[in-house]
Amino acid sequence: MRRVRYQYQGVVQGVGFRPFIHRLATAMDLAGFVQNRSDGVVVEVEGAAVDLFGERVLDELPPLADVYDHTREDLPPTGGQGFRIIPSEGDEHRDVHIPPDIATCDDCLRELFDPDDRRYRYPFINCTNCGPRLTIIRDIPYDRDNTSMKVFPLCEDCRGEYDDPADRRFHAEPNACPTCGPQLQLLDEAGNDRPAADPLREAARLLKEGYILAVKGLGGFHLCVDATDDSAVKRLRVRKHREEKPFAVMVRDLDMARRLARVDDDEAALLTSPRRPIVLCERLAETDLAPSVAPGVPAVGLMLPYTPLHHLLLAEGFTALVMTSANATDEPICIKNDEAVRRLGGIADAFLIHDREILVRCDDSIAAVRAGRPRVHRRSRGYAPLPLVVPAAPEPVLALGPELKNTVCVLKDSRAFLSPHIGDLSTPEARDFFHESLELMERITECRPKIVACDLHPDYYSTRHAGTLTDVEFFPVQHHHAHIVSCMAEHGLTESLGLAFDGTGYGPDGTVWGGEFIHATAADYTRRGRLRTFTLPGGERAIREPWRIAAALLRETWPETWADVARNLDLLPEDVNPSLLEVMMARGLNCPRTSSMGRLFDGVAALLGVRHTVSFEGQAAMELETLASEPGEALAWDLDRGVVLNELDWRPLVRVLVKRRLAGESPARLAADFHATVIHASAKLAAELARVDGLSAVTLSGGCFQNRLLLEGLMQALKNEGLEACAHERVPTNDGGIALGQAVSAAAQLGMQVGMEKI
Ligand code: ZN
Ligand code: ZN
Ligand code: FE
Repeated sequence: MRRVRYQYQGVVQGVGFRPFIHRLATAMDLAGFVQNRSDGVVVEVEGAAVDLFGERVLDELPPLADVYDHTREDLPPTGGQGFRIIPSEGDEHRDVHIPPDIATCDDCLRELFDPDDRRYRYPFINCTNCGPRLTIIRDIPYDRDNTSMKVFPLCEDCRGEYDDPADRRFHAEPNACPTCGPQLQLLDEAGNDRPAADPLREAARLLKEGYILAVKGLGGFHLCVDATDDSAVKRLRVRKHREEKPFAVMVRDLDMARRLARVDDDEAALLTSPRRPIVLCERLAETDLAPSVAPGVPAVGLMLPYTPLHHLLLAEGFTALVMTSANATDEPICIKNDEAVRRLGGIADAFLIHDREILVRCDDSIAAVRAGRPRVHRRSRGYAPLPLVVPAAPEPVLALGPELKNTVCVLKDSRAFLSPHIGDLSTPEARDFFHESLELMERITECRPKIVACDLHPDYYSTRHAGTLTDVEFFPVQHHHAHIVSCMAEHGLTESLGLAFDGTGYGPDGTVWGGEFIHATAADYTRRGRLRTFTLPGGERAIREPWRIAAALLRETWPETWADVARNLDLLPEDVNPSLLEVMMARGLNCPRTSSMGRLFDGVAALLGVRHTVSFEGQAAMELETLASEPGEALAWDLDRGVVLNELDWRPLVRVLVKRRLAGESPARLAADFHATVIHASAKLAAELARVDGLSAVTLSGGCFQNRLLLEGLMQALKNEGLEACAHERVPTNDGGIALGQAVSAAAQLGMQVGMEKI
């Protein structure tokens, strides 16, 4: 007889860990107990097989559990009988991780569609293996009283399940049934009750008639229409002021997904994972999807149902439903019933709501398989707030993130907690959400860091917020350095050559950065290369009107005759006077200089006639990628070598592209050659810099690497140069990953040993 105490830390509460321990210990004939504590879970076992038990716990963890640390201690046997789950104990030091929201499990799904089950067609069915978590949490520890389920007292049957260690619903905090739990309700467009015997079937009927519904989900409302009804999809675009940006669609199951898109095994695994992100897949040519769902792009964002309500809705016979975050463009997702009626009035024709409150906004996550690996482009529902493991920080750090695609990050001990996606901090609503998120992160990490990292850009809302904080130490981190450090943290690198190919970011030299080659450690960097700079005539306007960038590229290439070339390309809008544009550029009036790779893509897209204006950032570049369907050939570039800074000169490339275009060559061919040239030239410069600086790892970060051709082509080219190419997987390559890089950089500047551990 021996007695051992195990302590587990990590994602071990709210994920069926205690019933699992109970079953295992009982099956192995061990006595003892399991107990939730605020710093983890304690297990004491007594009997013969105590060591084997310890091994089996780690080998057979429930699907959602994750153990980061555990300890083992021998104790004198006490001779007790039986194995018990004893009540939770709370104390001051808490180190328990809140689980993310998890898609309905197969067991619950079977019950949902079983006419003999007491939860038949109940839209809030869940168990310890599935259901809402983060989005219903008010405080920790994660107990029912600290969630929005507090207002639903358990009925006798549910209580029985909740208290029975052998039951799948033992301590399932959101446990509920039609007798005691939340209920659906249908509202009309003005927010008045719209009586229906079965609100869900009535909602489905409205969708089939082409109406726009606001549907309350897990982390917020969706706006929902039948994805095969083009006029309904178009109406949604008009009302939402979202002209062309693709909509995500939800399909019943994998079979249906495969009728709409090419889905390989890795993509299928992502689609069906309990995290249920939107997965970007290649659309098939002939499908029932309405053309307005994703105009002009070959990809379609697919997701499978992740709540019982979704399953019931899709079971009403839809091929696919558009499910887009319920907001006006650029605002955060709606979560409250009255808020939805107020903010979505004029967009939604009806509201399918319920009375389980959403406490934390959490948008759908977006992922894609690139270069054979799943990569998260938006890390939110299903992932947040699971921490990433990084080297231990000397003290807690708060990173406030960038302006666009904002997330915030708290670094505490060796965990980096990245918030759910917040978005663009341009509206008052988004700024409120930013503050909500800061409070949330402080609450769930239980710390208020004195070390605060932010962007170098003085005008970002997040940076200005840093200025309002007192009694803290600031660490401004350059945008592209943060991008690269974020990627280095993912791969456990202490030093790398970073290629930051991005939209825009504040450069300390007064130019806008975004096509940078930097020799980086977590604490510091040296800029070793960049794109030759060009101007953005009209500043911010150039992002929406890439013809402006194209004009600037032409003028840099042919200073005297650029206006004639622009005329031959039919580039300038009719109301634009080339000589005024010339004056503007010659004098540098509202013409910031940039080395941005993203803007070069935009400009080249305009030169090739892909599009002259866009309705969302990156649209032109995205279509340029789409156009480049065949493998291209690398064209000429120049390299201007400097003592420290080397410059890739794109002018020879522009010269060739324009000449060939004017000679009538197909834009598709030229788009392919453009990609091939960027890849070739970048890999060559990277290889040279890596050799000179003695580096073997190259990190790729920045929004441009959402471009599949660029990412996969460059990774291959770098490998061909004998380099190790590292790109983002668990953290977005776009600005959604910046906060992690800021936090790790600040910690490194404080003396943290970065890169000792791989995430
Ligand atoms: Zn379940
Ligand atoms: Zn009940
Ligand atoms: Fe960026």
